Amino acid sequence: MAEKMLKFVGTPQAMPVKRPAAERRHDFQEIYSAYARDKAAEQAARCSQCGVPFCQVHCPLHNNIPDWLKLTAEGRLDEAYELSSATNNFPEICGRICPQDRLCEGNCVIEKGFESVTIGSVEKFITDTAWERGWVKPIQPRRERPESIGIVGAGPAGLAAAEQLRRKGYQVAIYDRYDRVGGLLIYGIPNFKLEKEIVQRREKLLRDSKVTFHLNCEVGRDVSFEELRQRHGAVLVATGVYKARDIAAPGIGLPGIAPALDYLTASNRAGLGDTVADIESGVLDARDKHVVVIGGGDTAMDCVRTAVRQGAKSVKCLYRRDRANMPGSQREVKHAEEEGVEFVWLSAPQAFLGNDRVSHVRTVRIHLGMPDASGRQTPQEIANSHVNIEADLVLKALGFDPEDLPLSFAAPELGVTGWGTLKIDWRSMMSSLDGVFAAGDIVRGASLVVWAVRDGRDAAERIHTYLTTKAAAAASMAAE
Ligand code: FAD
Ligand code: SF4
Ligand code: SF4
Repeated sequence: MAEKMLKFVGTPQAMPVKRPAAERRHDFQEIYSAYARDKAAEQAARCSQCGVPFCQVHCPLHNNIPDWLKLTAEGRLDEAYELSSATNNFPEICGRICPQDRLCEGNCVIEKGFESVTIGSVEKFITDTAWERGWVKPIQPRRERPESIGIVGAGPAGLAAAEQLRRKGYQVAIYDRYDRVGGLLIYGIPNFKLEKEIVQRREKLLRDSKVTFHLNCEVGRDVSFEELRQRHGAVLVATGVYKARDIAAPGIGLPGIAPALDYLTASNRAGLGDTVADIESGVLDARDKHVVVIGGGDTAMDCVRTAVRQGAKSVKCLYRRDRANMPGSQREVKHAEEEGVEFVWLSAPQAFLGNDRVSHVRTVRIHLGMPDASGRQTPQEIANSHVNIEADLVLKALGFDPEDLPLSFAAPELGVTGWGTLKIDWRSMMSSLDGVFAAGDIVRGASLVVWAVRDGRDAAERIHTYLTTKAAAAASMAAE
């Protein structure tokens, strides 16, 4: 083992410099600056090079973390990049937005007592350096294959699959109903977590690698699913989940109450330079408003922090469980609190009040009762505990369900689970239709970018097996 490593006792954990909350409240730039080269090496050298690295076990991509940390500590960044990019199509994106506290870093053995190695920040540093130095190059497959694959959805699952398939020489066409590439990376996740140029340079790389994009093209509307199946040797469905869950409470239809993703998409579009009518008119703009966000996941965290940056008068996050039981990342909650967001834990909306538009949310206090079948404590309302909270803009961030794909694709034989996600055989990643595969949120339900990348990579491998097996069978038939 290199003598450089194992420095966690003498060297304290240091994240890249975080901009002060007072400054970052006023802009949409990322909140962490980059590591300087010697700082990245110093932090990577804290790793104790575990024989059984739990960080790697708990990374959905099983990234070879100890080895790229060692290479970074030794200043061998080109090799660190080779290794890191061998298992992850978007290391600089995952390094920025994975909830590391629940994945790699949360399972780092030195976490107990010494604070984990800053794995995500080093991963981001390695690949940002590779981009700066021109090491990230378009794909030039060793040989071109004639078969084409149609991918529905240009989010992380579709893009990761496209890159892997293109490496093998397949002709890849991606169809997306949005006008830009990236799925939730471009229109969901705000700039202060993931700057859009990071996504756009990936798009350019894929275009330079001869992946074709058909944007503003909704499958089931602009082109039929059946036609796609005719056009391509295999189809990958990576459409994500977009049906926003709603609240059944009096007054929910009042103007001033909006779904979270509409709000975030509008803000991201404005940041990208589009003229957005709902922002111009103030409908989806938090400026000078009392904002209440309902929910406790990543989407809710992104809404509260966007509202702060838009110049809201006050921002409250209403969540029916407590801090320890919220699904969002604890790091995000900390950032939000620093930026002035108030969390109203153990509180649920009962009604939305107002005449021609919402003016207050009537809330009720919650007590967490006995655990249910899933092991989570059941929220119970406390009688006579109502509080009215002032609100000019209410954002509903209660999660997402899949759209009815068999209906919108006019493919009733496309099998779905009880949750509406696409049913696949996990060994082949094929759906109930021959040659139709699926990956990402549409299979898992709302999940994480790193899982979408993992699924996209796995699906590409299975599609390759499917097409090569089919070609071999056709060749042997012809030979008979
Ligand atoms: P998506 O990214 O949703 O992409 C699906 C694509 O399919 C879209 O571009 C859509 O336009 C397209 N599409 C859908 N239907 C059709 C059709 N019929 N025809 C053509 N195109 C179609 N994860 C993290 O790891 N970290 C985070 O910090 C994080 N923050 C998040 C914040 C928000 C606000 C949200 C909503 C999610 C967040 N996530 C985060 C989750 C993460 O973004 C998703 O798990 C991931 O993007 C799923 O990837 P995907 O490729 O399956 O789907
Ligand atoms: Fe950690 Fe995510 Fe990187 Fe894996 S991909 S090492 S979980 S930051
Ligand atoms: Fe290094 Fe922590 Fe991974 Fe061990 S668990 S190899 S110390 S990063």
